[in-house]
Amino acid sequence: MIPPREENSKWMQLPRDIVIGHGVIKEVTSVCDDLKLGNDPLIVTGKHTRNIAGDVVHDILADAGADPSVITIKSATTEEVERVKQAALYNNSNYLLGVGSGKSIDVAKLAAAELDLPFISVPTAASHDGIVSSRASIHDGKRVTSVEVNAPMAVIADTEIIANAPYRLLAAGCADIISNYTAVSDWELAYRLRNEPFSEYAAALSRMTAKIVLDSVDSIKPKLESSVRIVVKALVSSGVAMSIAGSSRPASGSEHMFSHALDMVAPKPALHGEQCGVGTIMMMYLHGGDWERITNGLKKLHAPTTAAELGIEDKYILEALLLAHTIRPERYTILGSGLTPEAAERVAKITKIIE
Ligand SMILES: [Zn+2]
Repeated sequence: MIPPREENSKWMQLPRDIVIGHGVIKEVTSVCDDLKLGNDPLIVTGKHTRNIAGDVVHDILADAGADPSVITIKSATTEEVERVKQAALYNNSNYLLGVGSGKSIDVAKLAAAELDLPFISVPTAASHDGIVSSRASIHDGKRVTSVEVNAPMAVIADTEIIANAPYRLLAAGCADIISNYTAVSDWELAYRLRNEPFSEYAAALSRMTAKIVLDSVDSIKPKLESSVRIVVKALVSSGVAMSIAGSSRPASGSEHMFSHALDMVAPKPALHGEQCGVGTIMMMYLHGGDWERITNGLKKLHAPTTAAELGIEDKYILEALLLAHTIRPERYTILGSGLTPEAAERVAKITKIIE
């Protein structure tokens, strides 16, 4: 686990090997050898992603003489984390590989942290920054909580596999990165008003990452490995910004709190990144920034920019706006002590999120 941070000391945890490119899944053995992780990995994968990559990773490791085990998980819940931990103990696993989109990686990451075992991230989609970060999102029966764990020892991002994942996931990943803009503005506000610890390096890196993605929207297209490369590099860079900050501050502010609130109130929430993108438009308006630039960028990516496109009724958007500031009360943002119902309706209407 991460050692406690002492006053005036700085603890930064980063992945050691990051491999991005066409067909790099084949390099899983060299990465594991480089890290000297042992001979008994546990592969944590999803039902669908097992066919795409889980079994491939198994066969590559087995052909190289390792003795891998595989466990298929259904959801990112504490029960599944427990099941993975039992499997790892039963198989005497030396390390865990999360092979999948969001869920498998979150579950493997948390199980590895609780067992104090190394963890390797093998994403099959680039839909959010969890593929690189030291945080895991887990449903504990009541709500989704974000837990601080270890950063992955390595990230193996095969652009061929990720380019074949549904484009909607990649667009959501872009929206998650674009949300760094308002996250950093919230962080600056908390620094100015509350004297919260602030890192110029982390803030600058996070903002630059969002800018690169927003400036690249015209070249991000379905099925293109060059697009995947842009997004994965941005997710890595965003994860590094969080490592430098020692918190998720550079990549998670009021727009993320809005998305978490939507997860709680909406009967059928949209993807994390999609909700964060819509949140970014509204929070950018509250910051007095250029929210239309965010809307236009998301539109070019074909990411949702309205409640209707999220598939969520207007009333839940307003409910989430009123609830958002309570999600992480210790995290000061532009939402302050909360919006009034009139102010919530105004921001949602002006930014054309609701009709
Ligand atoms: Zn996010």
